[in-house]
Amino acid sequence: MRRKLVVGNWKMNGSLAANAPLLKGVAEGAGAAGADCAVCAPAPYLAQCQQLLAGTPVAWGAQDVSRHASGAYTGEVSASMLMDFGCSYVIVGHSERRAYHGESNELVAQKAVAAMSAGLTPIVCVGETLEEREAGRTTQVVSAQLEAVLALLDGQQVSGIVVAYEPVWAIGTGKTATPAMAQEVHAQLRMQLKEKSADAGAGVRILYGGSMKPDNARELMAQTDIDGGLIGGASLKAADFLAIVQAA
Ligand code: PEP
Repeated sequence: MRRKLVVGNWKMNGSLAANAPLLKGVAEGAGAAGADCAVCAPAPYLAQCQQLLAGTPVAWGAQDVSRHASGAYTGEVSASMLMDFGCSYVIVGHSERRAYHGESNELVAQKAVAAMSAGLTPIVCVGETLEEREAGRTTQVVSAQLEAVLALLDGQQVSGIVVAYEPVWAIGTGKTATPAMAQEVHAQLRMQLKEKSADAGAGVRILYGGSMKPDNARELMAQTDIDGGLIGGASLKAADFLAIVQAA
């Protein structure tokens, strides 16, 4: 039985002043939930997450990581630096990084390896654009994105990742994949994980992301292979985020 996981992706939002009540609200409300829960904040606020979330049921993480361990990579943040601030998770390959920063499947895979080597759980994002879906290429696109990561990890390591299926056309648009559409892709991704390792197929959590809100979360997460959510917009309001955690 996979325990549900709900992760907030704040993207480039927040301030010290605005984060404090949000983090405190989430920490207070998440206590009673029977699901795992985390927030992925902008890097400058990870110290604040550590300060306000340590000792609570809410974990925290980052939204990106360097594939390098250290050195002359101006502006990058390494996995060991994220560990210094108590992170458990890091998102890799979010579609906004792929689209605006030209991240390839191979780079995303290297970032996942860097994260795992330091002891972080990578949340590997995959997802198709609207054009790709309409061209009937969804399976091909998401399986290539996942395959690049699987190629660099052994079966045991694969069991330690989290996958997030995020159709690009559903992110921040208010359009959500129907539960059946999402389940179909999740089942394919699980089959692909299973081919790598039976344990990974059974145990890896596959989150859905793309306009998940309090009013659609329950139905999405009731699907056999949907093990939680990666939440953008709705993670910026404690009440909305907590309603999704409760649904999980
Ligand atoms: C995301 O950014 O990962 C996301 C799913 O955003 P939203 O929930 O706003 O669609």
